[in-house]
Formats: sequence, structure tokens, C-alpha cells
Amino acid sequence: MKLAKEIVQSIQEAKNIVITSHKSPDGDSIGSSLGMLRFIRALGQDATICHPDACPSFLEWLKDGDEIVDFDADQDRVISLMDNADLIFCLDYNGSGRMGKDMGGVLLAADGKKIMIDHHPYPEDIFELSASHPEVCSTSQLIIELMVQSGNEKLLSQSIGTPLYLGIVTDTGSFRFSSVTARTHVLIGKLIENGVEQANVHENTFNHNRLDQMKLRGYAIAEKLEVLADEELAILSLSEMDLERFNYIKGDTEGLVNVALSIEGVSVAILMTEKDGKVKMSFRSMGSIVVNKFAADNFDGGGHMNAAGGISFLSLEETIEKVKKLAPTYFGKTHA
Ligand code: 5GP
Ligand code: MN
Repeated sequence: MKLAKEIVQSIQEAKNIVITSHKSPDGDSIGSSLGMLRFIRALGQDATICHPDACPSFLEWLKDGDEIVDFDADQDRVISLMDNADLIFCLDYNGSGRMGKDMGGVLLAADGKKIMIDHHPYPEDIFELSASHPEVCSTSQLIIELMVQSGNEKLLSQSIGTPLYLGIVTDTGSFRFSSVTARTHVLIGKLIENGVEQANVHENTFNHNRLDQMKLRGYAIAEKLEVLADEELAILSLSEMDLERFNYIKGDTEGLVNVALSIEGVSVAILMTEKDGKVKMSFRSMGSIVVNKFAADNFDGGGHMNAAGGISFLSLEETIEKVKKLAPTYFGKTHA
């Protein structure tokens, strides 16, 4: 972890601290933000979390009251907080565009010192301090390192550790991906020693699925999944009508793309969900098959080697056709 002592010194010197993260928050962005907020409070300082949009419902249980202000719901407050901040943390993202155009613009215009703590490759050069660690599984792991390496391990508690544990679990598919290292487990051990109840985290996060959500997932797999054998590619596509039929709410398709990836003979999976005339794309791959380049080259996206995202402005059908046309160039055995 780069810069741990400098980062903590910046916290101690700051008067108004804001913590930001990327659009469409996931477990790691929510977890690292809450862990950071509570660490800052344990240091005797305060901060406000400003996210571009709302926390998905399956992660609501992590919050203790009103810990997150969201730009979609309260733009004026977020703009004023960011304008007045002398220190802005940028967690789990590597460039202003990841917050969406509007809030990204607010970040660029803000005068406060910007500190990025992140694990995505190719960070933009817009931060005063940049703790960029693409080799680490999650930003949440980096927040634990920040505490340990700045000499503040003694401040670890159940309240700080629980969201950080959750962030690691969700970004690693429950400790499954190759990004998990011995160090991840050493740090997890510290969390458990300090009161984190891992069985409760899993129960609260993964065992409260709504019936409609389960039906949507079943329908997606039974009716909307296509496998291209030569390219070892699975495509899952859900139209706006499909989502409406099962009363979709944010978070309902979380992890679904990994189910497609688990099919025998599949090494790349794509989930497409249609919303407001656009198609949100999620890419996952195994081993040496690289999806962030595919996302960046063709779908205005990016991310990690084996987990990326992007967007298509074509119709859902046209997007599927575009993927199928491109697939032989990028995927299949010859590319591994
Ligand atoms: P997900 O499929 O879970 O939405 O995203 C997987 C990963 O891809 C995220 O951790 C993030 O790194 C990246 N990602 C998702 N959407 C985008 C996007 O629109 N642009 C970029 N650059 N990265 C994205
Ligand atoms: Mn992350």
C-alpha cells in the first residue's frame, strides 16, 4: 500500500473531508466508503460520503442510518459538500468519468486535495495523491492496509471491519478469484479477530433474495442465455420488458454474469441489460482471456482483465449482433 502515512496525515490535517466512489455502487465501493468513513471517525475526524447514485437494496443493511448522501437524490448538497471540501477521497475508481458526467464534472471543478485509493489499471492523472494498486483484489483490502501500515491497526473494530469484509467478499466472488492472495487472508484474519462476524455478512448479503429476483434469474438462464461454442462465449440478455415483468430493482442481476461464466466450456460471459434505451454490459472472463480491452475498444468501457463493464447505445438486438460479429476476433481457444 503506497502512501499510507501521508494519507493519514492528510486526514489529520483536513477540515472538510468528502469520500466519493463510482456510479452504480457495488459491494466494494459501498464497503470501502463506509470503512473509510468509520476509520476517519476513529481517528477523531469526520467526513461525508457522496456517491453518484443510491446504494443497492441488498447492501442497505451495511449502513448505519444516513451515512451516504447521493447525488441523484440531493445534487445541491453534494455540490456544496464537494466545493467546500479540502480533502476528497476517490475510492474504487480511476477517473472522473466513472462517477458519471455530472458528478465527474463536480469532482474536476472541486479545489480540494484529491486522493485516489483504487485497484483499477490505468488511472487518470487528476489526483494529487494516487494509491493505485491493480494487483490487489479490492479497494476494501487497501483500506485495511491503510490502517495497518499507518500504524492504526488497533483502531480496527467490528463497525469498520464489516463493510471492508463485505467489499472483499463481493469483489472476489467470495474469495474465488485469482486476485485473492495469502495477504488477503491474513488481513481477513485481522478483521475476524476484531469482531467481524463473517457468517452474518454472508447471511445478510446473499440470503435475502426476493422471489421476483430469483424468478428473473431463472428466466434469464432458461430463456435468455445463448452459448457460442467456438468462442466459448455465453451471452445473457435482458430487455427492459423482461426486467419489468419481474419487478426489477437495482442489484437483482448482481452475480448473474458469473453464473453464465460457470458453464462448462465457457471462458467469457456477457450480461446485457436494457435500460432507458441503452444497454449496460457486464463482462467476465477466465484466465488469460482479457475483457477490459474488448469493453474499451467496442463499448465505451473498461475495468479489470477478467471483469469489465461498458455501455451500448444500439438496441439490445443490435448489441447482441455486434458482440457476435466481434467475438471470433477476441475470444475462443486461439486467444487464450
Ligand atoms: P460490473 O460488471 O460489476 O458492473 O463491472 C465490473 C467491473 O468493470 C467494475 O469493477 C469496474 O471496474 C468495471 N466497469 C464497469 N462498468 C464500467 C464502465 O462503464 N467503464 C469502465 N471504465 N469500467 C467499468
Ligand atoms: Mn473494486
